[in-house]
Amino acid sequence: MKKIIILLSASFITTVYGQEDKYPAPVPMTHEMTEFWTPQPPVITPCKRHSDSPLTAPSDAIILFNGKDLLQWEKAPDKNVLVKGKDMTKFKSSEKTNSNWFVKDGVLTVNKEAGDIQTKLLFNDFQLHIEWRIPKGITGEGQLRGNSGIFLQGIYEIQILDSYENVTYANGQSGSIYKQTAPLVNAMCPPGEWNEYDIIYTAPVFKADGTYRSRPQVTILHNGVLIQNHTEILGTTPYIGLPQVVKHGKGPIRLQAHGDDSAPISFRNIWIREL
Ligand code: MG
Repeated sequence: MKKIIILLSASFITTVYGQEDKYPAPVPMTHEMTEFWTPQPPVITPCKRHSDSPLTAPSDAIILFNGKDLLQWEKAPDKNVLVKGKDMTKFKSSEKTNSNWFVKDGVLTVNKEAGDIQTKLLFNDFQLHIEWRIPKGITGEGQLRGNSGIFLQGIYEIQILDSYENVTYANGQSGSIYKQTAPLVNAMCPPGEWNEYDIIYTAPVFKADGTYRSRPQVTILHNGVLIQNHTEILGTTPYIGLPQVVKHGKGPIRLQAHGDDSAPISFRNIWIREL
Protein backbone atom coordinates (compact mmCIF):
# COMPACT_ATOMS: atom_id res chain seq x y z
CA MET A 1 0.00 0.00 0.00
CA LYS A 2 2.82 2.32 1.00
CA LYS A 3 4.54 1.56 -2.31
CA ILE A 4 1.41 2.50 -4.23
CA ILE A 5 1.13 5.81 -2.42
CA ILE A 6 4.78 6.57 -3.18
CA LEU A 7 4.27 5.65 -6.84
CA LEU A 8 1.11 7.77 -7.04
CA SER A 9 2.92 10.68 -5.42
CA ALA A 10 5.79 10.36 -7.85
CA SER A 11 3.33 10.20 -10.72
CA PHE A 12 1.56 13.32 -9.46
CA ILE A 13 4.86 15.21 -9.28
CA THR A 14 5.76 14.00 -12.74
CA THR A 15 2.40 15.14 -14.10
CA VAL A 16 2.45 18.54 -12.51
CA TYR A 17 6.08 19.49 -12.88
CA GLY A 18 7.16 17.46 -15.84
CA GLN A 19 10.06 15.69 -14.16
CA GLU A 20 10.32 13.86 -10.89
CA ASP A 21 13.38 15.76 -9.78
CA LYS A 22 12.17 19.22 -10.76
CA TYR A 23 10.25 21.48 -8.42
CA PRO A 24 9.34 25.09 -9.11
CA ALA A 25 12.44 27.23 -8.66
CA PRO A 26 12.29 29.19 -5.40
CA VAL A 27 11.66 32.89 -5.81
CA PRO A 28 14.97 34.76 -5.33
CA MET A 29 14.97 36.75 -2.11
CA THR A 30 14.84 40.51 -2.27
CA HIS A 31 15.74 42.96 0.49
CA GLU A 32 12.04 43.84 1.02
CA MET A 33 11.24 40.29 2.13
CA THR A 34 13.07 40.68 5.43
CA GLU A 35 11.84 44.20 6.27
CA PHE A 36 8.86 45.00 8.45
CA TRP A 37 7.51 48.54 8.81
CA THR A 38 4.86 48.14 11.49
CA PRO A 39 4.62 48.46 14.35
CA GLN A 40 7.09 51.34 14.52
CA PRO A 41 8.86 51.65 17.90
CA PRO A 42 7.33 54.52 19.95
CA VAL A 43 9.41 57.69 19.84
CA ILE A 44 10.57 58.91 23.26
CA THR A 45 12.82 61.69 24.50
CA PRO A 46 15.86 59.99 26.02
CA CYS A 47 17.89 60.98 29.07
CA LYS A 48 19.79 64.23 28.60
CA ARG A 49 23.31 64.97 29.70
CA HIS A 50 23.91 68.42 31.10
CA SER A 51 27.34 68.61 29.58
CA ASP A 52 28.81 67.55 26.29
CA SER A 53 31.78 65.78 27.87
CA PRO A 54 31.91 62.03 27.33
CA LEU A 55 31.43 59.48 30.08
CA THR A 56 34.68 58.50 31.82
CA ALA A 57 35.64 54.84 31.32
CA PRO A 58 35.80 52.55 34.37
CA SER A 59 39.26 51.53 35.53
CA ASP A 60 39.01 47.94 34.26
CA ALA A 61 37.97 48.86 30.72
CA ILE A 62 40.08 48.47 27.61
CA ILE A 63 40.10 51.83 25.84
CA LEU A 64 39.41 51.15 22.18
CA PHE A 65 39.41 54.80 21.09
CA ASN A 66 41.17 57.37 23.24
CA GLY A 67 40.43 60.39 21.06
CA LYS A 68 43.98 60.50 19.70
CA ASP A 69 44.83 57.49 17.59
CA LEU A 70 43.53 54.25 16.15
CA LEU A 71 46.26 51.95 17.39
CA GLN A 72 43.62 49.48 18.56
CA TRP A 73 42.08 49.32 15.07
CA GLU A 74 42.84 47.97 11.65
CA LYS A 75 41.19 47.87 8.30
CA ALA A 76 38.51 45.17 8.18
CA PRO A 77 38.55 42.48 5.49
CA ASP A 78 36.04 42.59 2.62
CA LYS A 79 36.12 46.25 1.82
CA ASN A 80 32.78 48.00 1.74
CA VAL A 81 31.32 49.57 -1.38
CA LEU A 82 33.53 52.40 -2.54
CA VAL A 83 32.00 55.83 -2.62
CA LYS A 84 33.70 58.14 -5.05
CA GLY A 85 33.67 61.89 -5.14
CA LYS A 86 33.13 62.54 -1.44
CA ASP A 87 34.40 65.81 -0.02
CA MET A 88 37.19 64.82 2.31
CA THR A 89 39.05 68.09 1.85
CA LYS A 90 38.36 69.31 5.37
CA PHE A 91 40.65 66.59 6.62
CA LYS A 92 44.37 66.87 6.00
CA SER A 93 46.13 63.72 4.93
CA SER A 94 48.12 63.76 8.19
CA GLU A 95 44.84 63.27 10.04
CA LYS A 96 44.20 59.97 8.33
CA THR A 97 44.92 57.03 10.60
CA ASN A 98 46.48 53.67 9.91
CA SER A 99 42.93 52.52 9.27
CA ASN A 100 42.32 55.52 6.99
CA TRP A 101 39.50 56.88 9.08
CA PHE A 102 39.82 60.42 10.42
CA VAL A 103 40.79 61.49 13.91
CA LYS A 104 40.39 65.15 14.82
CA ASP A 105 39.65 66.97 18.07
CA GLY A 106 39.06 63.72 19.95
CA VAL A 107 36.54 62.47 17.41
CA LEU A 108 36.77 59.58 14.95
CA THR A 109 34.97 60.06 11.64
CA VAL A 110 34.12 57.41 9.07
CA ASN A 111 36.04 57.42 5.81
CA LYS A 112 33.55 55.83 3.45
CA GLU A 113 36.18 55.30 0.79
CA ALA A 114 38.32 53.28 3.18
CA GLY A 115 35.73 50.70 4.19
CA ASP A 116 35.01 49.17 7.58
CA ILE A 117 37.49 49.06 10.45
CA GLN A 118 37.71 46.58 13.30
CA THR A 119 39.52 46.12 16.56
CA LYS A 120 42.77 44.19 16.57
CA LEU A 121 41.64 42.54 19.80
CA LEU A 122 39.05 39.77 19.67
CA PHE A 123 36.29 39.27 22.21
CA ASN A 124 33.73 36.82 23.49
CA ASP A 125 31.34 38.21 26.12
CA PHE A 126 31.63 41.93 26.77
CA GLN A 127 30.15 45.24 27.82
CA LEU A 128 30.78 47.88 25.15
CA HIS A 129 30.31 51.63 25.48
CA ILE A 130 30.35 53.67 22.29
CA GLU A 131 29.23 57.21 21.46
CA TRP A 132 28.27 58.33 17.98
CA ARG A 133 26.94 61.45 16.31
CA ILE A 134 24.96 62.06 13.17
CA PRO A 135 26.28 65.29 11.60
CA LYS A 136 24.06 68.33 11.78
CA GLY A 137 22.44 69.07 8.44
CA ILE A 138 22.49 65.41 7.39
CA THR A 139 20.69 64.72 4.14
CA GLY A 140 19.17 61.60 2.60
CA GLU A 141 16.21 59.46 3.56
CA GLY A 142 15.53 56.09 5.12
CA GLN A 143 18.56 53.84 5.10
CA LEU A 144 20.57 56.41 3.16
CA ARG A 145 20.81 58.87 6.06
CA GLY A 146 23.68 58.43 8.52
CA ASN A 147 23.91 54.68 8.10
CA SER A 148 26.68 52.88 9.94
CA GLY A 149 26.70 49.98 12.36
CA ILE A 150 28.52 48.02 15.00
CA PHE A 151 29.20 44.40 14.17
CA LEU A 152 29.46 42.32 17.35
CA GLN A 153 32.19 39.70 16.97
CA GLY A 154 32.55 41.10 13.45
CA ILE A 155 29.31 39.41 12.37
CA TYR A 156 26.08 40.65 14.00
CA GLU A 157 25.12 44.23 13.14
CA ILE A 158 23.58 46.63 15.63
CA GLN A 159 22.26 49.33 13.34
CA ILE A 160 23.32 52.96 13.48
CA LEU A 161 21.16 55.33 11.46
CA ASP A 162 19.66 58.79 11.75
CA SER A 163 16.32 57.58 13.09
CA TYR A 164 15.36 61.04 14.30
CA GLU A 165 12.24 61.94 12.32
CA ASN A 166 13.35 59.55 9.62
CA VAL A 167 11.11 56.54 9.14
CA THR A 168 12.42 53.29 7.74
CA TYR A 169 11.59 49.64 8.27
CA ALA A 170 11.38 49.03 12.01
CA ASN A 171 13.93 46.23 12.04
CA GLY A 172 16.41 48.47 10.24
CA GLN A 173 16.30 51.60 12.36
CA SER A 174 18.86 52.64 14.93
CA GLY A 175 19.20 50.11 17.71
CA SER A 176 17.79 47.23 15.71
CA ILE A 177 19.48 43.88 15.36
CA TYR A 178 19.63 44.55 11.65
CA LYS A 179 16.84 42.83 9.72
CA GLN A 180 15.82 40.90 12.84
CA THR A 181 14.59 42.74 15.93
CA ALA A 182 13.40 46.35 16.16
CA PRO A 183 14.33 48.38 19.26
CA LEU A 184 11.70 48.60 22.01
CA VAL A 185 11.56 52.39 21.58
CA ASN A 186 13.15 55.05 19.42
CA ALA A 187 15.48 56.94 21.80
CA MET A 188 17.36 58.98 19.17
CA CYS A 189 18.97 62.33 19.81
CA PRO A 190 18.72 64.78 16.93
CA PRO A 191 21.58 65.25 14.44
CA GLY A 192 24.47 67.20 15.93
CA GLU A 193 24.04 65.64 19.40
CA TRP A 194 25.93 62.63 20.75
CA ASN A 195 24.15 59.29 21.12
CA GLU A 196 25.38 56.51 23.39
CA TYR A 197 25.07 52.76 23.16
CA ASP A 198 25.83 50.50 26.08
CA ILE A 199 25.86 46.98 24.73
CA ILE A 200 26.02 43.85 26.89
CA TYR A 201 26.72 40.84 24.71
CA THR A 202 26.88 37.10 25.34
CA ALA A 203 28.60 35.11 22.63
CA PRO A 204 26.98 32.01 21.17
CA VAL A 205 27.98 28.47 22.03
CA PHE A 206 28.11 26.06 19.12
CA LYS A 207 27.50 22.35 18.81
CA ALA A 208 30.05 20.23 16.99
CA ASP A 209 27.88 20.33 13.85
CA GLY A 210 28.11 24.14 13.70
CA THR A 211 24.58 24.93 14.88
CA TYR A 212 23.91 27.03 17.96
CA ARG A 213 23.76 25.31 21.33
CA SER A 214 22.89 28.76 22.67
CA ARG A 215 22.32 31.77 20.44
CA PRO A 216 24.15 35.06 20.86
CA GLN A 217 22.27 37.43 23.15
CA VAL A 218 22.35 41.17 23.48
CA THR A 219 21.02 43.85 25.80
CA ILE A 220 21.33 47.48 24.66
CA LEU A 221 20.80 50.83 26.32
CA HIS A 222 20.45 53.74 23.91
CA ASN A 223 20.99 57.06 25.65
CA GLY A 224 20.28 55.33 28.96
CA VAL A 225 17.07 53.68 27.75
CA LEU A 226 16.62 49.92 27.36
CA ILE A 227 15.99 49.13 23.69
CA GLN A 228 17.03 45.45 23.48
CA ASN A 229 16.42 43.19 26.47
CA HIS A 230 18.30 39.87 26.34
CA THR A 231 17.45 39.70 22.65
CA GLU A 232 18.48 36.49 20.94
CA ILE A 233 20.35 37.02 17.71
CA LEU A 234 19.23 34.54 15.08
CA GLY A 235 22.36 34.54 12.94
CA THR A 236 24.11 36.84 10.48
CA THR A 237 22.46 40.15 9.56
CA PRO A 238 22.54 40.39 5.75
CA TYR A 239 20.81 43.07 3.68
CA ILE A 240 19.28 40.40 1.47
CA GLY A 241 18.36 36.97 2.74
CA LEU A 242 17.70 35.24 6.01
CA PRO A 243 20.05 35.01 9.00
CA GLN A 244 22.69 32.34 8.55
CA VAL A 245 24.33 30.41 11.34
CA VAL A 246 28.07 30.58 10.92
CA LYS A 247 30.30 28.89 13.45
CA HIS A 248 32.91 31.24 14.87
CA GLY A 249 35.13 31.93 17.82
CA LYS A 250 36.20 35.22 19.36
CA GLY A 251 35.67 38.20 17.08
CA PRO A 252 36.40 41.91 16.75
CA ILE A 253 34.20 44.97 17.14
CA ARG A 254 33.69 46.15 13.59
CA LEU A 255 32.45 49.60 12.57
CA GLN A 256 30.66 50.06 9.28
CA ALA A 257 31.54 52.50 6.53
CA HIS A 258 28.20 52.41 4.74
CA GLY A 259 28.20 53.33 1.08
CA ASP A 260 25.40 55.90 1.09
CA ASP A 261 25.74 59.50 -0.04
CA SER A 262 25.02 61.22 3.28
CA ALA A 263 27.76 62.90 5.31
CA PRO A 264 29.88 60.48 7.40
CA ILE A 265 29.04 59.97 11.06
CA SER A 266 31.50 60.22 13.97
CA PHE A 267 32.43 58.21 17.06
CA ARG A 268 34.11 58.96 20.37
CA ASN A 269 34.79 57.40 23.76
CA ILE A 270 34.80 53.71 22.84
CA TRP A 271 35.66 51.27 25.61
CA ILE A 272 35.00 47.67 26.40
CA ARG A 273 35.00 45.39 29.46
CA GLU A 274 35.47 41.69 28.91
CA LEU A 275 33.02 39.59 30.90
MG1 MG B 1 24.29 49.81 8.91
